Amino acid sequence: MAYFPELSAFQYQIKGQPVEITMIGWLDLEHPHNTGPVSEQFLERLWLYCRNPVRQSKGFHSCDFCGPEWVMQEAERNGEKLGLGSAEILVRSNSGITYAAPDLIYHYIVEHQYQPPQEFIEAVKTAPLPFDPTQRTAL
Ligand SMILES: [Zn+2]
Repeated sequence: MAYFPELSAFQYQIKGQPVEITMIGWLDLEHPHNTGPVSEQFLERLWLYCRNPVRQSKGFHSCDFCGPEWVMQEAERNGEKLGLGSAEILVRSNSGITYAAPDLIYHYIVEHQYQPPQEFIEAVKTAPLPFDPTQRTAL
């Protein structure tokens, strides 16, 4: 898994346009990260983002915290199952910041008590959901 410091800025190309992205949840074993509780409302919305990832990676990332074996992580919510580790989500906050996170972020939170920065939690709770057609057009 590629590591990026929390909230670091990065330049992406989305449909040929350069976009400033803020990185969230690119964790590894060598760098400490915050832990703590998150709300169900946040998890519910984060799940919808993970179900509708923006970019599919070429390979799979496995979770460093679960061990060195290469495994695709499965997550389940409300009877739905998702394989995590092969995609990224983009969350565009109402204040215009675009956050990029690996879809494994859901697994990190549920299984490893990872607590993302508060501004990302707020963005996920208030931003338009990824299947909202207005956001599709905007990207
Ligand atoms: Zn894990």
